[in-house]
Amino acid sequence: MIDLRSDTVTRPSDEMREAAAEAPVGDDVYGEDPSVNELEERAADLVGKEAALFVPSGTMGNQIAARVHTERGEEAIVEANSHVYKYELGGFAQHADLQIRPLDGGDAGIPSGEQVADALAAEDLHAAGTGLLSLENTHNRKGGVAIPPEEVAAAAEPAREFGVPVHLDGARVFNAAVALDVPVTDITSHVDSVMFCLSKGLGAPVGSMLAGSQAFVDRARRERKLFGGGLRQAGVLAGPGLRALDNVGRLAVDHQNAERLADGLDDVDGLSAADPDTNIVLVDVEGAGVTAAEFLDRCATVDVHGTEFGEYTVRFCTHLDVTESDVDTALDRIADLV
Ligand SMILES: *Cc1c(COP(=O)(O)O)cnc(C)c1O
Repeated sequence: MIDLRSDTVTRPSDEMREAAAEAPVGDDVYGEDPSVNELEERAADLVGKEAALFVPSGTMGNQIAARVHTERGEEAIVEANSHVYKYELGGFAQHADLQIRPLDGGDAGIPSGEQVADALAAEDLHAAGTGLLSLENTHNRKGGVAIPPEEVAAAAEPAREFGVPVHLDGARVFNAAVALDVPVTDITSHVDSVMFCLSKGLGAPVGSMLAGSQAFVDRARRERKLFGGGLRQAGVLAGPGLRALDNVGRLAVDHQNAERLADGLDDVDGLSAADPDTNIVLVDVEGAGVTAAEFLDRCATVDVHGTEFGEYTVRFCTHLDVTESDVDTALDRIADLV
């Protein structure tokens, strides 16, 4: 099976299973799990923040951030195709009582500074004031776009000047840093909080990190408890999480494989795939006379799997468990099909 549905499908390696087995543990709700504590310190250092919190999922990390940063009834500015807007069940409304103001970030996947400045609203007798700006890097829906630090800064600056905190959904922020060949802190220094996933390209079975100031993380820890995300001997998850941090550099391999896949697919008559920035390849299948769903059904018959991303758009994702030869095999099979 060549599983290109998502980078979440990676299985923990033997090394990660060993790390789980060998991790020293304690009760993390009491703050006594040494592996979780080590992971939180390393994660905070990596992204250049004072503190970090281990959370069971990226979604929970984003939702907690919204609750900590805002007051009930405020407005959250989000990108119109962002994960927090499209794929988290309207959580900002459900969990944080926020009104959403989506801004179209275009192909870049991020609103301009001017768009943000225009959308910022002060609170008065009639207007819900802006309480949060949420950005996403890499941008999933736009095809894993790696957004350069300057563009993050340009969007974040007007908000921060206005006194509005900025959260980064950085589920794949290390993919962005590796693709752009910049330290991840060049990106994260422009935001107040950042969430990143251990469970995607980095290969851990479970978990994400939410980082920010010490005061932010102290409050986030209480919110995590409220969400039911206070875990006990979570070191069995933090052990693999620590190993996952060693996988940052190898994300470049996923990006090369994605490029190889996109090039090969683009060469197939009827398919078109743009050059990907990172590990996500979007393929337009309309020219082959099939819908994305039909295309994927046929791919499944040759044991190649992807995700429907639009009527004629398919997403393929490369990851730790996909080799260059898997890519070539997938390409051969798809070319035969088409
Ligand atoms: C996967 C993802 C999330 C959520 O992570 P989960 O761990 O699946 O909850 C958030 N944002 C983006 C951009 C993602 O791709």
